[in-house]
Amino acid sequence: MVNAASAYAFVLGACVGSFLNVCICRIPAGQSVMFPRSRCECGTPIPFWLNIPILSWLFLRGRARCCGRRISARYLVVELLTAVLFSAMFAVAQSTVDFAIGCTFFSLFLVAAFIDIDRMEIYDAMVIGGVLAGIILPLLSPSWHGEQSAPMALFDSLCGMCFGSGLMFWIAAFGEMAFKREAIGGGDVKLMGMVGAFIGWKGCLFAVFGGCLLSSMAVLPLLFAWKILHWKDFKLPSEIPFVPFLAVGGIAYVLLGQNLLNLLF
Ligand SMILES: [Zn+2]
Repeated sequence: MVNAASAYAFVLGACVGSFLNVCICRIPAGQSVMFPRSRCECGTPIPFWLNIPILSWLFLRGRARCCGRRISARYLVVELLTAVLFSAMFAVAQSTVDFAIGCTFFSLFLVAAFIDIDRMEIYDAMVIGGVLAGIILPLLSPSWHGEQSAPMALFDSLCGMCFGSGLMFWIAAFGEMAFKREAIGGGDVKLMGMVGAFIGWKGCLFAVFGGCLLSSMAVLPLLFAWKILHWKDFKLPSEIPFVPFLAVGGIAYVLLGQNLLNLLF
């Protein structure tokens, strides 16, 4: 249903998405996400009316007004994706606090996923902040975890955190033994702690197995083409970022989780 409130969620998501773009660029470079204000690569400060989420990119058709440099379509994609996810969260949220918790979780996951695509790295400061948010925010709305009281919500967050990290740790340990090299790093273990704090142990299972399924669906056809069809010109990447697949699993759990679990059991 499109109404004023879900349109508001969309606009809010687009604005937050614009900030997430800043985080994705600046966190790996070790820069502040607050200052200085946005500049073009040529150094010209971007006036606010050319920095309007979604609309400015479309209006400029992906070229900077000051110097004509291309502005990556990624900026548009992140803003649109955040806007759509915030609207979807608005549609399923039971309360305003639940909406805020879901949107915080999505934002953290989007930043982690895009940084993983760029750098194959996960940044501790962000993930540890995310773990704290995942423990503290559900205290304000225990029904987020399906609980009646704050202590029970705290218990669910802590169980989820330990379960998520533990699950990832053992997948990494067995993976290393099987493949004789490190496939999953310490960053993934902490990231799954964040996921568990937000969505509990069931959510972790869902995100990890959903992520594995999706990544094999993406990788196997490539391997097949490379091996069988002798696509030798195509350079096979030695590693693929896993966080984007986990993010799809984790976000799907928040938006559809209970319905999906009902379908399975
Ligand atoms: Zn410029």
